Amino acid sequence: MLLDMRASGDELGWLTWTLNGSQFYTYSICNVEEREQDNWLRTTFIQRHPLASRVFVELKFIVRDCNSFDGASLVCKETFNLYTSESDADVGTTFRKSQFKKVATIAPDEITGKNEMHINTETRVVDGLSRKGFYLAFQDIGACIALLSVRVFYKTCPGTVQNLATFPETVAGGENQPLTKVSGVCVDNAASEESPRIYCTEEGKWAVQVGQCQCKPGYEEVKDACQECRPGSFKAEASSDACEPCPANTDTLEHGAVLCPCKDGFFRAPTDPTTGPCSGPPSAPRDLSAVRQPSVGRLILSWTPPEDTGGRNDITYSVECQRCDGIVCQPCGERVRYEPGSTKLTEARVSVSELEAHLNYTFIVQAHSGVSQLASEAQRPASRSNVTIFLHYTGEHPPQITTMRLVGRTSTSLALSWDVSPRPRAQLHVRYKLTYHKKVSIFCFSHQECPEIKLCLMYHFGFVSVYVCFACCLNNRSTGSILSIHNYITRKRNSHTRQGPEDTYFSTPEQLKPLKTYVDPHTYEDPNVAVLKFATEIHPSHITKQKVIGAGEFGEVYRGILKAPGRKEVAVAIKTLKPGYTEKQRQDFLSEASIMGQFSHQNIIRLEGVVTKFKHAMIVTEYMENGALDRYLRDHDGEISSFQLVGMLRGIAAGMKYLSDMSYVHRDLAARNILVNNNMECKVSDFGLSRVLEDDPEGTYTTSGGKIPIRWTAPEAIAYRKFTSASDVWSFGIVMWEVMAFGERPYWDMSNHEVMKAINEAFRLPAPMDCPSAVYQLMLQCWLQDRAKRPRFGDIVSLLDKLLRSPESLKTIADFDPRVSIRLPSTSGSDGSPFRSVSEWLESIKMSQYSENFTCAGIVTMEQVLQMKTEDIKNIGVRLPGHLKRIAYSILGLKDQTSTLSVFAV
Ligand code: AMP
Repeated sequence: MLLDMRASGDELGWLTWTLNGSQFYTYSICNVEEREQDNWLRTTFIQRHPLASRVFVELKFIVRDCNSFDGASLVCKETFNLYTSESDADVGTTFRKSQFKKVATIAPDEITGKNEMHINTETRVVDGLSRKGFYLAFQDIGACIALLSVRVFYKTCPGTVQNLATFPETVAGGENQPLTKVSGVCVDNAASEESPRIYCTEEGKWAVQVGQCQCKPGYEEVKDACQECRPGSFKAEASSDACEPCPANTDTLEHGAVLCPCKDGFFRAPTDPTTGPCSGPPSAPRDLSAVRQPSVGRLILSWTPPEDTGGRNDITYSVECQRCDGIVCQPCGERVRYEPGSTKLTEARVSVSELEAHLNYTFIVQAHSGVSQLASEAQRPASRSNVTIFLHYTGEHPPQITTMRLVGRTSTSLALSWDVSPRPRAQLHVRYKLTYHKKVSIFCFSHQECPEIKLCLMYHFGFVSVYVCFACCLNNRSTGSILSIHNYITRKRNSHTRQGPEDTYFSTPEQLKPLKTYVDPHTYEDPNVAVLKFATEIHPSHITKQKVIGAGEFGEVYRGILKAPGRKEVAVAIKTLKPGYTEKQRQDFLSEASIMGQFSHQNIIRLEGVVTKFKHAMIVTEYMENGALDRYLRDHDGEISSFQLVGMLRGIAAGMKYLSDMSYVHRDLAARNILVNNNMECKVSDFGLSRVLEDDPEGTYTTSGGKIPIRWTAPEAIAYRKFTSASDVWSFGIVMWEVMAFGERPYWDMSNHEVMKAINEAFRLPAPMDCPSAVYQLMLQCWLQDRAKRPRFGDIVSLLDKLLRSPESLKTIADFDPRVSIRLPSTSGSDGSPFRSVSEWLESIKMSQYSENFTCAGIVTMEQVLQMKTEDIKNIGVRLPGHLKRIAYSILGLKDQTSTLSVFAV
């Protein structure tokens, strides 16, 4: 607004009149009867806005109808004229008509008569202004007019935000430039390729915007501004679109996300759009089945697609074939033919040919998708997609030996014949091998008592070996009798498997029944497949860790709770894998579960399951309240009866019998690897593949390579790594000793070298104090140099059972030599000199807890100690029989200064 005469009111010297209560300021003139009127009214100087070249003049006025005057004058007019004059300065009252230009003749729309009044409003444009200011002037040429209001203004386009661009208030142009181009700026967090522009019309209206601003990635438009995407939504590009919710299997907790990362366990294939959903590896193909088509010599494998495609439609399959001979699986090699192929199969079916008869084939069909590779790199094992079937593809059964006859004998020979059914085809080339063994039992030493021999016939048939064993009584003089036959089919073993097969082959007949056999997880190409085959996957949310209870090789061991859906809560031990592990370490860690998962026995630690599909792998086992056996015994020294100790040994032997029946060789059987529960039940644990090599602090490197816990290991295993169930029996003998000696260290502080030397020279550990004779005799049997002569675990279980059934048998105590069993420290100080004080002596026999009892009783010198009788020891407060004996025996040893170090020879 440049001028508003009405608002200025009477300042301008206007006349006032009142109409209907309102006051009007007016300039009026009414010379209607006089000729040649030329009356001028000029405004004050009106400053122009420098950009406004066009101004609007709005007039409100009244014009009297000439006819309303009596005797209407011929000279009366009903219009007036508007003039303007530009000037750079206010010229004051100076007025020169010639300087004014006419803008318009102003005529009323409605003229005012005698009785009614009409106010007219007319607006005129004064354009092309360029000077600093201007005047307006009104020329009356003989009308009767009242000018009520003059307003002079120019137009602007108001400051605005349009399409995320801010434009400033802009003065509208005039006739020379009807459209004014205005540049804008994008609002915060918006951008545009072309800078935003808009036009301001001469009417003060915005028109035709160019250059669209758009919210940047991570922002969306909300009320003329760009706002961050909320968590759970994203925007990848600058666009006018709103933020989108995170696609399937993705999420973000951030504000302003440009992308939604994949949730744990889901991935984007390299070809997947980064804005699209993530997908998981497919689950296993289902219902894998094999149909033989012998007429065309092939096998059709078919399956149904995985239940869970992981959200993808690029599923393909691969087929892998393994030829298994029971223990060892190896790839089938290139001979096997697949039609249409073995990889990138899009149909759920493949035909396999060139298979050999009599072999177990394992086919692993795996589903793949664009994310399988990523999933396996992220240690989301592709095993989700594995299905294994065992297919015994037999063309022909191996022949069975149906009868075997003793057809002749002399004092030095036997003649045998046998029948085979069905007769093997000539081209199968069957060879027979006969082996012969005296049937020895460790508990009978003469052939008069045990006059049996065992004959075994072995033949090979393809990959299958058949053993037939029978027993023959040497004092049976008859011939032609049909001998008892035990057909035992086994399969060729790989020479490098750890188990020594002969233990199984040459067992007593009742042990010849085919058994479930332990499968070395190493025979699996992918150890992840093995672990999932033998162990149940547990979701980590079902596990609660409570307290660290130990340190394993791979990480901490916790006590905790397992609450699987639909099952009761159980206390568990949780072995964890410390962060920063390598893939090899992870596989070694999980191998323990692959082994443990194959066992199910009261005296073998039970595997509850594993966590492999999450970052922190875990092995969950039953919880054993009393922890490791060696510690437990040391903590309860002298407090447990022999009967109970033998009961514990019986449990360990039963567990070991189970393991040896499964052809599993433990290699590190020691009290520290036995766990004890609340009921004092003992269970064998520690099954990791690398455990002897890495885990056991007792492991010592030997010249034959490898780390071996010398004190627990049989001589043949130390010398040439001959680990068998018989070497486990040796270790069991050491465990028996540890148990009967309440966790004493075998061979005390002798060095490994001294131990090996002593064993070689036929020395053996002496009987622990208070050890039943029968138990010590069994230990000595376990430590026989000739491993074939050692008892089997089955024999050990039977013997221990027998002892437990008749507890009197435990009453005969083995000879005990305190000079040997409580070694040198009890006879002299560590430097070989006599003990200087009672407490030094007590410490050496680990009985320091009684120091005070001795002092209180006034026994302060070793001389006094030497005078003590068992009764005296009891009287000063040593009550536990085990402790009483230990102290008494030590005093006995101290008296016999001739003691030398030796261990018993057998
Ligand atoms: P490991 O790695 O098996 O030698 O375990 C280390 C230690 O954790 C053991 O010596 C035990 O003290 C403890 N531990 C392991 N497993 C269990 C379990 N199932 N119950 C109780 N304690 C266990």
